[in-house]
Amino acid sequence: MSESDPTTGEPSPVRKIIHIDMDAFYASVEQRDNPELRGKPVAVGGSAERGVVAAASYEARKFGVRSAMPSVTAKRQCPDLIFVRPRFEVYKAISRQIRDIFAEHTPVIEPLSLDEAYLDVTENLQGIPLARDIALEIRAKIKAETGLTASAGISYNKFLAKLASDHRKPNGQFVISPEMGPAFVEPLPVGKFHGIGPATAAKMNALGLFTGRDIRNQSLEFMNANFGKSGAYYYWISRGVDERPVRANRIRKSVGAENTFSTDLDAFDALAAELRPLVDKVWRHCEATGNRGRTVTLKIKFADFEIITRSRSVAAAVAGRDDLERLACGLLEAEMPLPKRVRLLGVSLSSLHAAGESEPQLTLGI
Ligand SMILES: [Mg+2]
Repeated sequence: MSESDPTTGEPSPVRKIIHIDMDAFYASVEQRDNPELRGKPVAVGGSAERGVVAAASYEARKFGVRSAMPSVTAKRQCPDLIFVRPRFEVYKAISRQIRDIFAEHTPVIEPLSLDEAYLDVTENLQGIPLARDIALEIRAKIKAETGLTASAGISYNKFLAKLASDHRKPNGQFVISPEMGPAFVEPLPVGKFHGIGPATAAKMNALGLFTGRDIRNQSLEFMNANFGKSGAYYYWISRGVDERPVRANRIRKSVGAENTFSTDLDAFDALAAELRPLVDKVWRHCEATGNRGRTVTLKIKFADFEIITRSRSVAAAVAGRDDLERLACGLLEAEMPLPKRVRLLGVSLSSLHAAGESEPQLTLGI
């Protein structure tokens, strides 16, 4: 691996990245707060017929229950499954607690969700030399302060740190050193790579790429030609190389709303009517925060759970609620007639900038 400082040509020091991930977070919180749920298969999420599982306890996972699984399927897999309503306020409060613990060690924290974050501890506030010791301390503090367990992955880049945190779950940690990195990726099925979703994995399989090794055997040109902008990322991660920095205080990149219908729909008018409350919700958020954006994305989930997204970017920030609705409806109209009935629609606005932050403007020269 040829990491070097572009200004001096000196080899840059190996980075120390920790990926912390709470174990079965929502489900563990519910089991913590309700002793009757301990040791039992628990699913947090909609118990309604059309809901999906947001999180499953380890007891439920033994039955194959997974997050994003329709509740009906989950119940079939595990008839004794106990459904619990999510309590996001509680999860958010714990999330703040664990971030405060991270912040005792480094300001360079990139949260991925309420229960997951990357930390760059190459230089850390307490001068602890080994990242694995920092991870041990953080996990012990999380346990002491929240009663919950977390797992950690420690490596020299984000991609491998995230893989590593899965390796000793739950309540464990694992180090992938620079010497181990490339070999660790080689046998891995491409679908396990963070950033490779089911559609990309299927495309890779169709091209004969099943593991990290298979990607590694391809040229950069081949990967670029087949995977566009992501080709280079896949090419490099298959070699255990990932130069993406840990981005502290990452700003929220989009605001969105979605809704699952009580019955599947396919008529334009009915779908357009369903868009309106979503547009209202997104716009209310924009007004409350002062955020504005210029990319509108429509998400359509079909009855068979296939999801498509369609986006449109406009030159200047979307100015008002009605503009947002017009753009979202336009995206929907372009998809008519739909090939299948629709179970969910989502609308989001991205390329956000905050209130007062000027957007790129055309200025008139004098
Ligand atoms: Mg987690």
